[in-house]
Amino acid sequence: MKNDYLLLTPGPLSTSPTVRQAMLNDWCTWDDQYNKEIVDVIRHKLVNLATQHDNYTCVLMQGSGTASVEATIGSALSDQDKLLVIDNGAYGARMAEIAQYLKISCTTMQQKETEEVDLQKFEDLLASDKSITHVAMVHCETTTGMLNPLEKFCKIAKAYNKVVIVDAMSSFGGIEMDIGELDIDFMISSANKCIQGVPGFGFVIAKESAMQQCQGQARSLSLDLYAQWLCMQENNGKWRFTSPTHTVRAFYQALQELEEEGGIDQRQHRYKSNQLTLVKGMRELGFKTLLPDSQHSPIITSFYSPDTADYQFKRFYDQLKEAGFVIYPGKVSDADCFRIGNIGEVYPNDINRLITAIKSVMYWKK
Ligand SMILES: *Cc1c(COP(=O)(O)O)cnc(C)c1O
Repeated sequence: MKNDYLLLTPGPLSTSPTVRQAMLNDWCTWDDQYNKEIVDVIRHKLVNLATQHDNYTCVLMQGSGTASVEATIGSALSDQDKLLVIDNGAYGARMAEIAQYLKISCTTMQQKETEEVDLQKFEDLLASDKSITHVAMVHCETTTGMLNPLEKFCKIAKAYNKVVIVDAMSSFGGIEMDIGELDIDFMISSANKCIQGVPGFGFVIAKESAMQQCQGQARSLSLDLYAQWLCMQENNGKWRFTSPTHTVRAFYQALQELEEEGGIDQRQHRYKSNQLTLVKGMRELGFKTLLPDSQHSPIITSFYSPDTADYQFKRFYDQLKEAGFVIYPGKVSDADCFRIGNIGEVYPNDINRLITAIKSVMYWKK
């Protein structure tokens, strides 16, 4: 049951042996033991992790996280509605691209990937374009590791009475928040990020009233958020089409392990320790972070590639993999970087082992 290497990536990530073990049974999709006792329990647990408010509901959706984002955008907006997307990274850009594919009216507030979200500009846009009905932002921009200003964003959006959609894919479960306090309408995440499950489905936690509004609006049968939700709601957690049963069972186990760890608060603490250990160790080796510490999430960190002709990411990657660690290529458009994630079944001691390994493979220094 031991993995060949530790994934230091933002999902799929390293899971515990017990999460992987939970997949060793086959499950029937219409049996109570699966729907009532696993799926419905997961839906309730997720709502409880997201908020103390009781007007929220949850729906699970097959596919990677993007499928859930697409289901939300494609179901929440009618043909008369207009979306404003904050784009300061690949995942913001992806939401705008989804709207474009679905022929949903959309305007993008584009910024550099290393730039903090300009909230004044956001407010000016809302004030000047009355046709905007929905706004969307990524919480942790996994492209850079930047944590976007969720609280202020929601405040402004709600002052202008907009429906708020948040891609919290790489932050939910790893960063504490109450989406009811923030008045978020739709929050999207997936199984293989901070809850530490395996890939196969995403989930949307939404105000029940916002979910009701989606009826009849979807542009796709399989990504109809409302129809999926209604089916789960009326049939004790039954999915419309074949569900990723093994993934779901592993996720149930992962949720139990999150509780055992002490909840999101404790998990955030561990991730933060990992990230601080990582940045400290990397700086001691001479690496520089792309972002200042103040903008950083405790999820993933971008480092500048060494500024020497001898350095090649592929070689660095291969040698680290050989040593038992898988890192991530960079994704920033105007800087040469690589990324190291610190979410998943990863502890500060693993990060210390990584630093030692990096030190020993810095071939360009030798
Ligand atoms: C991982 C991630 C997604 C979803 O990616 P998939 O590859 O579709 O699972 C979306 N947004 C953010 C911010 C992410 O980190």
